[in-house]
Amino acid sequence: MENNSRKKLHRSSQLIHSPKVKMVEGNRSILSPVYQSAKFAIAPGVPLMEQFFYTRIANPTLRELELALSELQGMEDCIVLSSGLAAITGTLLGLLKADDHVIVFRETYRPGRVFVRDILPRFKIESSVIKLSETHELEKYIRPGTTKMIYFESPSNPHLQIADIKLITSIARKHGLLVMMDGTFSGPHQHQDMDIDIMIHSLTKYTNGHGDVVAGAIISNQKLISEVRKMTIMLGATLDPHAAFLISRGMKTYLLRYERQSLTAGEVTTFLSTHPKIKKVYYPGRLDQKQSDLAHAQMQDMGGILAFEIDPALGTALEFCHRLKLLQFTASVGSTESLICPTLMFFGDDLNASDKMEMGINEYSLRLAVGLEHSQDIINDLSQALS
Ligand SMILES: *Cc1c(COP(=O)(O)O)cnc(C)c1O
Repeated sequence: MENNSRKKLHRSSQLIHSPKVKMVEGNRSILSPVYQSAKFAIAPGVPLMEQFFYTRIANPTLRELELALSELQGMEDCIVLSSGLAAITGTLLGLLKADDHVIVFRETYRPGRVFVRDILPRFKIESSVIKLSETHELEKYIRPGTTKMIYFESPSNPHLQIADIKLITSIARKHGLLVMMDGTFSGPHQHQDMDIDIMIHSLTKYTNGHGDVVAGAIISNQKLISEVRKMTIMLGATLDPHAAFLISRGMKTYLLRYERQSLTAGEVTTFLSTHPKIKKVYYPGRLDQKQSDLAHAQMQDMGGILAFEIDPALGTALEFCHRLKLLQFTASVGSTESLICPTLMFFGDDLNASDKMEMGINEYSLRLAVGLEHSQDIINDLSQALS
């Protein structure tokens, strides 16, 4: 509505149709405005689906983030959603149907694994949960004509195990299966040269990086994205434009943060590896030889997350967490603050005792995601809690 015609309105109507600010041609804001609007006026003469009209379907602020993420990951297209878990469940529901079968790894983000194993059967979608160490036997689990997808994570939760991605994708190609990877820990700048069909990221973690937004992304080729988008629009897990703006802002420093956090995590790993009260340290590139070779072949940056096991003489991991002063005891990773938690508290609920034991999830093991504090302060805090 033109400013002149507004003048004729009652005050109550003027408050609804706010004044428009004029800007001369070329005088644009350097940062994109946040389109914090649920709806857009429909322009004449253009097909509706080429326009923005309702934010659950599309919004320019969300689209800008989708374009930036697909570019960073080196793939064609992207869907951003209101959580990382919505990205996982939306993709599974978008691409699978009754009588399909999916293979998921035991070493996968717990809610994703639980959704595949315990919820998908309601829709007659079956699954096999296999160990990452069984990857070379993956073909044994493929049901010809029925298996549709392999879903894995690398590095994995909570002990940073590295998947042999080339082996997984080569088996998938041979059998015509889709490969979905949760790349949250490695971030959207890595694994570009891998033959992955769908990359999932919890943007809550490194991408936004400031611990103030929950969001997720599905990144893939145009064909799969348009198929999945039909489902995610139906599920309605839309990201709010203001949250998308915060993520786009956070992404400007993404590479700087990821590099620094990788350096810090490396220094903390070195400190822990030589400490007499530490029984085990897990960090990509510093695991056993085969795992380290895989990590270096697949990733440039090893990331900000490590795990370790303390000497039982120090008490439990839970007690250890309560002795820390700088490191924050909670879930999540990839924030400005360093975050730590006992692995048993968040990652083993649905697993049996022998799986937990094999995976190193026990009363004395912890996952640490370093933040942006100085490495020496992080080491000092760990050091006082270990003495
Ligand atoms: C946090 C996380 C998710 C889920 O993301 P939310 O944004 O919390 O829903 C998925 N995968 C991994 C590896 C994660 O760390």
